[in-house]
Amino acid sequence: MAAEPDALNRRAALEAYASETAACTRCRLAQGRTQVVFGVGNPDADLMFVGEAPGFHEDKQGYPFVGSAGKLLDKLLEGIGLTRRDVYIANVIKCRPPGNRDPMPDEIEACEGHLFRQVELIEPKLIATLGNFATKLLSGKSYGITRVHGRPQEATLGGRRVTLYPIYHPAAALYTPAMLKTLEEDFARIPGLLEGASAPQVAPEATILQFPGPAAAAAASAPASPPQEQLGLF
Ligand code: URA
Repeated sequence: MAAEPDALNRRAALEAYASETAACTRCRLAQGRTQVVFGVGNPDADLMFVGEAPGFHEDKQGYPFVGSAGKLLDKLLEGIGLTRRDVYIANVIKCRPPGNRDPMPDEIEACEGHLFRQVELIEPKLIATLGNFATKLLSGKSYGITRVHGRPQEATLGGRRVTLYPIYHPAAALYTPAMLKTLEEDFARIPGLLEGASAPQVAPEATILQFPGPAAAAAASAPASPPQEQLGLF
């Protein structure tokens, strides 16, 4: 496992990793992208959001969540007294899939190391996974977001304990008032979860897992059990 930076070196380490990632050709998405959308925000954030993949606007501008889903994310953050500067935002996939299609299992597998390294460097206490892809990848389980949203779960990522908090993807909530209400309710619990979450603890030796492995990528792409959970964002 790579050495962990202290807080002072965190930003520099993250920037260095972003520069390295800018030339990534680990999967076919490199061919169609304008640029790699690495992530944005506070490298010392306690709270990290993980979405699915860049869309049209993100690909053009180079930052995650700058389109309409991002505007909703900003509004939800404001509702709990936070801004983008307080959190770190990234995606499972760093390059835009053509036509905004769902990421493919081999693309997730190729890209997941970038997200895992980001988590390792940032050491957030709480990771809010937005929608199915991030939730399944980071939990290593195939439960769909409809079933698990709003329920914090403990995970070990890169040998550190972290609380995962699955919530609906803002893009899914944009046009569905009931889902938006649920997302707002789940969001409202974030400050309390942050208060409750202790600093990430090193997991006992015996339980250290490098990260969810290829099985997690398979879980991320496997259809969830109930039919309504088979849609990417739900
Ligand atoms: N949807 C995502 O999952 N990520 C983005 O960056 C934008 C939209």
